[in-house]
Amino acid sequence: MGKVLVIGAGGVATVACHKIAQNSDVFTEIMIASRTKAKCDKIVEAIGNPNIKTAQVDADSVDELVKLFNDFKPELVVNLALPYQDLTIMEACLQCGVNYLDTANYEPKDEAHFEYSWQWAYKKRFEDAGLTAILGCGFDPGVSGVYTAYAAKHHFDEITHLDIVDCNAGNHHKAFATNFNPEINIREITQKGLYYKDGQWLETDPLSVHQPITYPNIGPRESYLMHHEELESLVKNYPTIKQARFWMTFGQQYLTYLDVIQNIGMSRIDEMEYEAPLADGSGKNVKVKIVPLQFLKAVLPNPQDLGENYEGETSIGCRIRGIKDGKERTYYVYNNCSHQEAYKETGMQGVSYTTGVPAMIGAMMFFKGLWKRPGVWNVEEFDPDPFMEQLNKQGLPWHEVFDGDLEL
Ligand code: NDP
Repeated sequence: MGKVLVIGAGGVATVACHKIAQNSDVFTEIMIASRTKAKCDKIVEAIGNPNIKTAQVDADSVDELVKLFNDFKPELVVNLALPYQDLTIMEACLQCGVNYLDTANYEPKDEAHFEYSWQWAYKKRFEDAGLTAILGCGFDPGVSGVYTAYAAKHHFDEITHLDIVDCNAGNHHKAFATNFNPEINIREITQKGLYYKDGQWLETDPLSVHQPITYPNIGPRESYLMHHEELESLVKNYPTIKQARFWMTFGQQYLTYLDVIQNIGMSRIDEMEYEAPLADGSGKNVKVKIVPLQFLKAVLPNPQDLGENYEGETSIGCRIRGIKDGKERTYYVYNNCSHQEAYKETGMQGVSYTTGVPAMIGAMMFFKGLWKRPGVWNVEEFDPDPFMEQLNKQGLPWHEVFDGDLEL
């Protein structure tokens, strides 16, 4: 029924591929392609299904992608590489008549800035080609949008306030590490905060607005207001929203390290000249260009290696205020995910798990014909019910609290 090509072989792709392989009634032919083929082969070995094909591809090159798509002829490409590759992969999909799904919106490499305009610009071309593109189908963005759509469909006539709350209460026993790609992660966190209020976007200094929020089974954790991409599509798709914000927890030690990294210039994303020794062992030096943040990534712990000693859990949810039958009501829907359980099942920690599972479910929705509509769509524009049902079946069960104190 479903011929799928996964691009990328990192933590998220590893989880998504495990889950894709578990759902063999939906996904009948699978290929994993990435920059480093050996990493794709490692995933296949871990899954233990030799029928999964692998390939090498540079997803920055439309020509290479087109060649690969024409060889394998997938019906859907699941893009789990980096946000930098979104547009080249979408372009290749259009050239080859392939549908598209991703978990993070496009970012140019030289500018830490995310917004959907670049990808929304493809809407007409996907529509004309009769192809579906599903954007932002991880947890946040992803499940956060599905939760909001589910709340709007079943529990509210009008949503007025939305707070997405993302807590990682896990401990990986490293002094400093990021839970997903360090370059993408640090770019995201060091940006200015942004939230939506009464029709306007308001900017805040990075991590300057914070307060404790109590997370189920975890307790209070200091949570920081940040910009997050799904706010942009959610306020557009739910115009009754007066205020939309995104909060994420950080420990004090993490913030101290982050501060140092910024102050010593290691979070810079511009190129600089560096004199490096030649690899031929001659003792001579050569001038090379490096991007400090990319260099930092090379020395930080690999997020994929955090799983083994990771304890504790994540808790991500939507806290919503609005009107139902003329009365104000609150609603909180969330999932808690254990790092250890995620590791036992897929060899990856909870942050990769909470992203990879929804990516697989989105692909399943597509192949079942439930989320299949020509154009470029954010997840909340599809029916949330079958997706919510699968979250419960595929390892990310959700819980609801009605009319509780939202604390926000
Ligand atoms: P990783 O860095 O672990 O993996 C990225 C993979 O992409 C690597 O295998 C890498 O190859 C591959 N890759 C990078 N550049 C290219 C290229 N030019 N051509 C082909 N392959 C390439 O990242 P994660 O798995 O942690 O994250 C994957 C995606 O998920 C990211 O876009 C991230 O932003 C997103 N994400 C979304 C979340 C959500 O909730 N929506 C949460 C967390 C992540 P190589 O192995 O050779 O380096």
